[in-house]
Amino acid sequence: MNHPKLADLFNEDEKRVDWHDKALWFVRHKRDLSVHQVQGWETLRNYGRAIKAHTLSNLDAYLEEFESNALENGVQVHWAVNAEEHNEIVHKILDEHKAKKVVKSKSMLTEECHLNPFLESKGIEVIDTDLGERIVQLAKEPPSHIVLPAIHKDRHEVDALFQEHLGTEPCDGNPQYLTNEARKHLREKFIEADAAITGVNFAIAETGEFVVCTNEGNADMGAHLAPVHIACMGVEKIIPKREHLGVFLRLLARSATGQPITTYSSHFKKPREGAKMHIVIVDNGRSEQLGRPDFRASLHCIRCGACMNTCPIYRRSGGHSYNATIPGPIGSILSPGKDLTKHSDLPFASTLCGSCSDVCPVKIDIHTQLYKWRQIITKEVKQPFVKKQSMKLMGKLFANPKQFKISGKIARFALKNLPKKIINAKPNVWGKSRDLPTGQKKSFDDWYKNRQKHGE
Ligand code: SF4
Repeated sequence: MNHPKLADLFNEDEKRVDWHDKALWFVRHKRDLSVHQVQGWETLRNYGRAIKAHTLSNLDAYLEEFESNALENGVQVHWAVNAEEHNEIVHKILDEHKAKKVVKSKSMLTEECHLNPFLESKGIEVIDTDLGERIVQLAKEPPSHIVLPAIHKDRHEVDALFQEHLGTEPCDGNPQYLTNEARKHLREKFIEADAAITGVNFAIAETGEFVVCTNEGNADMGAHLAPVHIACMGVEKIIPKREHLGVFLRLLARSATGQPITTYSSHFKKPREGAKMHIVIVDNGRSEQLGRPDFRASLHCIRCGACMNTCPIYRRSGGHSYNATIPGPIGSILSPGKDLTKHSDLPFASTLCGSCSDVCPVKIDIHTQLYKWRQIITKEVKQPFVKKQSMKLMGKLFANPKQFKISGKIARFALKNLPKKIINAKPNVWGKSRDLPTGQKKSFDDWYKNRQKHGE
């Protein structure tokens, strides 16, 4: 199903759409309050963008520097060209350590590679330990947001899920009780785990260390208890120096949730005594994106989720409507690079209002890239017949002032005189969920000429 159809499904539950919208706007508002407290926020954004652009232009050198420093620290480094290789490498490591129970902290890369189902098919239990991720894992759903994976679920649904899967008592969605029960359940999983998998927020070339940011401390619990730690990172997570962390850690937390700093920003450098540490560095289409001049800046993304929280389409269509690992505005410019035909609907899931670019902490020109994908898709992917014909017609009307004026008159007459149910009837896809304006007597052109005539 494409985005409009999945968005329609989400919109069937009006109450859910309303609280989803409000909850995300609340986070966006918190972000605004938080960034306005930082003097020089725009300078910080400029630094973030410049560091990322510089790193991507010298990616090969920084990756090699990172590898050699990580090896020196006693970490084993692996390279994966694609998702299949990534999954095979992770499985091989687990197999070598006879690991059958794995705890995993939030990692969009492992979602992208579909690591969980792959490992489960090999008889390995994988438990997501981020609370939101665990909720969607129990519901057998993918995350709907990169920072708030279960934002589409209300507390009563979580209550029902926990009763079914964790054997909890009914609690009328009491968040305190549910969190305590989740903690008890996850503690057991941490203690039993044979290995821990984490993502990577930033990997520092100069030192070979990496930083994982969580608000729950679950990455630390996993990595500090299990004898094996596997960290999975995309090639774009590299930053040159430790001193650059100050820029990104300040940008990330404020943009994501409005916090001044993420609760746990954990630095991993070498394995604990007697334990093993592995890093899997994954490309999976990133080099191709890097080779597209119009879209390479999409690799600056630090996965804060701010573009989703602010997007009027995302807030009212839900993350699952994008049918992609990364939803929302950034997902809509990353996904077409992976499969243009499959994701050709996504760049159109936007009003092009530019709010995503305004809040992006690393200043990615998201709405410009959405517009560029639209131009490519219109040329390369077959368009629905009705859309193609109506665009042709519009093109002709816009090119002919006389016809444009006449059609304007007809449209104003229709808006003024036809009943709403005809104007918003099913064939008018654009109008069915919008309140159209009432028809005005005069066109803008008439009004403007009239003003000039009277010397206004
Ligand atoms: S594109 Fe920008 S705003 Fe969106 S998740 Fe990435 S860093 Fe955050």
